[in-house]
Amino acid sequence: MKFKTIMVVVTVNSLMMTGCSFDNPFTKDSSESTEDQQQSQPEVDEKNSGDEQQSGEKPDQNNNDQEDGNDDEPSDEQADLPSLKKTVKVNADGKKVVTNVNDTLVLVNKTRNLPSDYIPESLVVPNVQFPFTEDLPKKKMQQVAAKALEKMFTKAEQDNIPLFAQSGYRSYDRQEAIFASNVQQHGEEEANKFSAHPGQSEHQTGLAMDVTSPAVEFFLVERFAETKAGKWVQQNAHEFGFIIRYPKGKEGITGYSYEPWHLRYVGKEHATKIHEQNMTLEEYLGVQVEQVNASQ
Ligand SMILES: [Zn+2]
Repeated sequence: MKFKTIMVVVTVNSLMMTGCSFDNPFTKDSSESTEDQQQSQPEVDEKNSGDEQQSGEKPDQNNNDQEDGNDDEPSDEQADLPSLKKTVKVNADGKKVVTNVNDTLVLVNKTRNLPSDYIPESLVVPNVQFPFTEDLPKKKMQQVAAKALEKMFTKAEQDNIPLFAQSGYRSYDRQEAIFASNVQQHGEEEANKFSAHPGQSEHQTGLAMDVTSPAVEFFLVERFAETKAGKWVQQNAHEFGFIIRYPKGKEGITGYSYEPWHLRYVGKEHATKIHEQNMTLEEYLGVQVEQVNASQ
């Protein structure tokens, strides 16, 4: 009765990139401060425009059973989960743009863009520790995710785990500037390998946070997964509503290299199911179901 998570590889596998390395001064060699070099450029200062957007951590709690017992006849959408087909529109440039921007399950990837003018409504700075002191927009997350992050960091501290938040919200304009800078420095072909196009960064949702620890000197590197903090995150993040968005071995589905530091908030119920079934968000939202249907 389990989902068949292995059946289909999505079309994004031709573009393997690092989901957040472009924002990260540390993922590349030390000369590439793609994020911090540009921090002197003031960004649109999205104020905390209210907490009304999402006050609970569970967008829908009727999902508990939807994974069970519905595998005999895959439908084109899963109960209580957003339909992938119904949550995109093709814009004038021929790009697929997501329409459910305020859904904590919004799927953003190489084929599903956020609108260029999308700014989350409830951006706040979570009360967690960062490895820097400047008051930067990248400290922010959507309120619901920020609260969950705080709970996670509190538990980590209780467990004596040294965990730090490194990079959260990033605006479309900022991503555009970063990508353009990388193209200028490295050429477009090379930039495409490590830098995301604007609109395709999950950080624009305000639901993602890159986390790190002193053991890797606050770098965002794969060996974070081998640290005490990295292992703790792998084992516990789902209990606070976060998933490791770009898991190892799923690069062909997510389109991004393994990023043990990139956490995405989806709510506890969904995160737990995704974790327990070793899924990606793509698989959970039924990409394989779409593919199955398409082949029928
Ligand atoms: Zn990231």
